[in-house]
Amino acid sequence: MNIAHWLLDAAQRWPQRPALFEGSHLVADYQAFAAQARNRALQLRHELGIAPGDRVALLMKNSCAYLELFYAIWWSGAVAVPVNSKLHPLEAAWIVGNAGARLVYTDAGCTFDGLALPAGCRELAAPGLAEPTPLPGDALLAPHPRLDSDLAWLFYTSGTTGRSKGVMLSHGNLVAMSLCYPLDVDAASADDAVVYAAPMSHGAGLYNFIHVRSGARHVVPASRGFQAAELFELAQTLERVSLFAAPTMVTRMVEQARLQGYAGEGIKTIVYGGGPMYLADLDQALAVFGPRLVQIYGQGECPMSITALSREAIADRGQADWAAIAASVGRAQACAEIRVLDPAGQPVAAGEAGEIVVRGAAVMQGYWDNPQASAAALVDGWLHTGDIGFLDERGYLTLTDRCKDVIISGGSNIYPREVEEVLIEHPEVFEACVVGEPDAHWGESVVAFVVPRPAGNLDALALNDWFLARMASFKKPKKYLFCTELPKNSYGKILKTRLRQWLKDPAGSLNDL
Ligand code: AMP
Repeated sequence: MNIAHWLLDAAQRWPQRPALFEGSHLVADYQAFAAQARNRALQLRHELGIAPGDRVALLMKNSCAYLELFYAIWWSGAVAVPVNSKLHPLEAAWIVGNAGARLVYTDAGCTFDGLALPAGCRELAAPGLAEPTPLPGDALLAPHPRLDSDLAWLFYTSGTTGRSKGVMLSHGNLVAMSLCYPLDVDAASADDAVVYAAPMSHGAGLYNFIHVRSGARHVVPASRGFQAAELFELAQTLERVSLFAAPTMVTRMVEQARLQGYAGEGIKTIVYGGGPMYLADLDQALAVFGPRLVQIYGQGECPMSITALSREAIADRGQADWAAIAASVGRAQACAEIRVLDPAGQPVAAGEAGEIVVRGAAVMQGYWDNPQASAAALVDGWLHTGDIGFLDERGYLTLTDRCKDVIISGGSNIYPREVEEVLIEHPEVFEACVVGEPDAHWGESVVAFVVPRPAGNLDALALNDWFLARMASFKKPKKYLFCTELPKNSYGKILKTRLRQWLKDPAGSLNDL
């Protein structure tokens, strides 16, 4: 099934329901949204020569036009290639070329000026929202027929550990992922307003489907990005707001909420995921926002749908093992089966750490044009996530780290995540990130990059005492490096590669990381 049927269906059932908002301003109902998507699909097919299966890239900041183009692409049977709008044009051009895109929409239509786009690819400015024009004939009245296995979305990984790869997500993958949302994440209804505060090229964009299916409102903030104060204002105006946010965004929301005395009014649900949420930060978020938080764990290769930790489990602080549950990523979602394997590929016992593998209907079809990487990631139908963690007897999964991030010091495995958890608990630490550094004696040693809270008095000695009072000394950082900010990508993920690079070649100040 072509997932664009969900938009057609919503428009037939609820033509006048409000669909697209720029800030708090309504710009299209469901009928107009679907008519625009269909018109643009016809334009793609007849004026721009896009055939079913062709790739069309989107290198744009969040906008309502982004949603229309998404559905136009799917309606026409083509494949969307959303590209992180904050990438350098050279990086973006690499992705566009790797995907073999025939067309790339950009905000102004001149991102690639002077740069060679791959042969056969054109750049076009994203169209503005316009009144739907009458349609020629009755062609494409319904979305172009697609099989569940046909590609819908080429999802380029954020590349925090190497060159970005194109994850092939089919229409069937996207349907399966979306159906898990009301089962495991949050009820979705027509009264909801989903706010796209995080980039639509990633997790936030993937949450459009279930909200189209439910006839909900889709809201792009006027800033076209994430600003906590703007978000709170929108929530109070529009009500029943839900959003996807990286943990670093949640931390910023907590800070801003404290500043203005806001307590989550108008927010229904904050779904967080995409990176570790430290217990100390979650505690603060609960204190400010109450039972509005749900966690998901996923990766491009099994988008948004490996596990979920429910609102109730997160908020139930009275429960004896709350800390263990809240530090986990929850239980398998409805379309995912999870195992934890030892290095020989055998399942380990409950409580033992190993590589997390997953299979199910949302798992990707493979990597685009990369059979070698596909074969390494998909073994006997199981996706090897590259994440390390353990399952407890009740089925809760706890992530300890990425395989590549584990530090092996003096023959012991040290998971940066647990060291970070202890550092973050310190009242004068705002952020911390731990990486390994080559060490002639130990193999690797632990290095902590720390962002102190302003007006504090933090030093390495104090942090060392704090650490040793809580954790085995072999895990203790050998070095504490203080900086004003940690380098992050536009999804809010901390760039550990950059920190490791800096350790290798400490050119420039720590504050310019
Ligand atoms: P991406 O494919 O860019 O979305 O990155 C996926 C990776 O982010 C996963 O493999 C995990 O390492 C990490 N990740 C995603 N969700 C969580 C979560 N809830 N907690 C900790 N790490 C996460």
